Amino acid sequence: MLGMMMHRDLRIIDILTFAAEAWPDQGLVSVMEDGGLHRQSYPETLDRVAQLAQALSALGIAEGDRVATLAWNSHRHFELYYGITAIGAVCHTLNPRLSREQLIYMIHHAGDRVICVDPDLVPLLEEMREELPAGLRLIVLCDAGEVPQSTFELMCYEALLAPQGTAYDWPEWPENTAAGLCYTSGTTGDPKGALYSHRSTVFHAMMVPLGFTHSLKAGRKVLPVVPLFHVNAWGLPHVAPLAGMTMVMPGRHLDGESLYALMQAEGVWSAWGVPTVWAGLLATIREKGAPPDGFGDLVVGGAAAPASMIAAFEAMGVHVNQVWGMTEMSPVGTRGVLPPHLQGLEPEAVIEAKRGAGRRLFGVEFKIVDDAGTRLPHDGEATGELYVRGNGIIAGYFNNDDATAKAMDADGWFGTGDVATVEPDGMLVIRDRAKDLVKSGGEWISSIDLENAAVAHPEIAACAVIAVPHPKWDERPVLVAVAAGDRKLTLEEVRAHLAPEFAKWQLPDDVIYVEALPLTATGKISKLTLRRDLAEYVLP
Ligand code: ADP
Repeated sequence: MLGMMMHRDLRIIDILTFAAEAWPDQGLVSVMEDGGLHRQSYPETLDRVAQLAQALSALGIAEGDRVATLAWNSHRHFELYYGITAIGAVCHTLNPRLSREQLIYMIHHAGDRVICVDPDLVPLLEEMREELPAGLRLIVLCDAGEVPQSTFELMCYEALLAPQGTAYDWPEWPENTAAGLCYTSGTTGDPKGALYSHRSTVFHAMMVPLGFTHSLKAGRKVLPVVPLFHVNAWGLPHVAPLAGMTMVMPGRHLDGESLYALMQAEGVWSAWGVPTVWAGLLATIREKGAPPDGFGDLVVGGAAAPASMIAAFEAMGVHVNQVWGMTEMSPVGTRGVLPPHLQGLEPEAVIEAKRGAGRRLFGVEFKIVDDAGTRLPHDGEATGELYVRGNGIIAGYFNNDDATAKAMDADGWFGTGDVATVEPDGMLVIRDRAKDLVKSGGEWISSIDLENAAVAHPEIAACAVIAVPHPKWDERPVLVAVAAGDRKLTLEEVRAHLAPEFAKWQLPDDVIYVEALPLTATGKISKLTLRRDLAEYVLP
């Protein structure tokens, strides 16, 4: 027997129509190219999205067409998330930090018809002009007077919006209609596309706030340092309007000084980003002697947050919410808020309890399996590859049967490529990415664990552990480090620092100092680049 309830298809635009009504005094603050701030409420944003939807339709954009964005975080980029999807088209976010080859690959693979591009990124497209698809059109995200000189015929965003009215009858789409397309950053081979739907996006936007009770509070400000050009800025453009928060978008400058100044000026409550960004902010906070006023919540994810970083923020009264997720998961999979039975612990116990990658969100299921695919217990001991299942998780990659066949198991679960344990109370502990584990003498060494412990030493500013081939042990760990000051710890000093937490055979065989660690297009430490840079390196 079926229930007798209405079925209303989930639509992304309904998030914004709700926000415009429910939170009329909340909205968007963007840092503009000239350093000035642009402010816009949710009702104003809805009006502009109505104009945008009609402008795109007038250009002939229709259901299923891919419209790409190549832009920093700004109110216009936010509007594109809603305007493109409202007319049934697909918003394909391009990451400007990717290589020329990757961008060309993605534009062709996605079949983009239009790219909406920030003025300062037009030269990036000029450089690849000969290799772009014929008939591709460009809309520049600027005012009429600001369109840059170009060999392309450029359309101006504001000029397209201006003649359109703000009243619009939002069309209905089946909720499984495609809405967003984001490619993984290709740290392992060609980029692969995750094709989100209206349903998966709205579902994700509804489930995140249930787990992020400390971060998401109506009337406060949230700072997405995570870019809108990668995995929906962790869902914030959909989550913040639902939760009644104003989004403060930092533009291009993400160094500690710039972020501190912006957070102080705007009174940001919750800031979201990868650990490398927070290392920069932490250094500025230490110089100034106090965190920005009103700052009380940090969401950190995308890579393991070192315990020393969690401890530093918690000590200044900033609540740390470590989360885990991936492009293929919309992307948030866990929440780092401690459950009630773990609240009120002594500070040291809090850090210990927050070291893991968080507990699953409602709507996400975990299983860990051994090499034969046999399910392992969630006992905090058994370690295996993590598979996930849920409404916000891809069922396959866009137009890529090979990658789909490799990623999905026979029961329809998605293989994350992460090696993990799950504790009996649900805490996920990421031991490593399968490809980053060090395989020494038939045993595994977690690079994450070694990095986490090494960076706790005050003389080490940042580090990464990579596997180096070894004739007897297959692979051995080597620590690549950036010294915090002039002094460089010797290998023996590093090993002595790590010795209490690790078995002797797990300690690194060498320390290599570098000026800076290479970063990926999403701001994480790029082990792929490090491995390439050290291809000729031989152990002493
Ligand atoms: P890509 O790096 O290819 O762009 P994502 O940005 O989707 O991919 O990154 C997802 C991966 O990042 C996860 O599979 C995991 O390895 C890593 N990751 C994300 N959050 C955490 C975390 N809190 N702790 C450890 N690893 C994490």
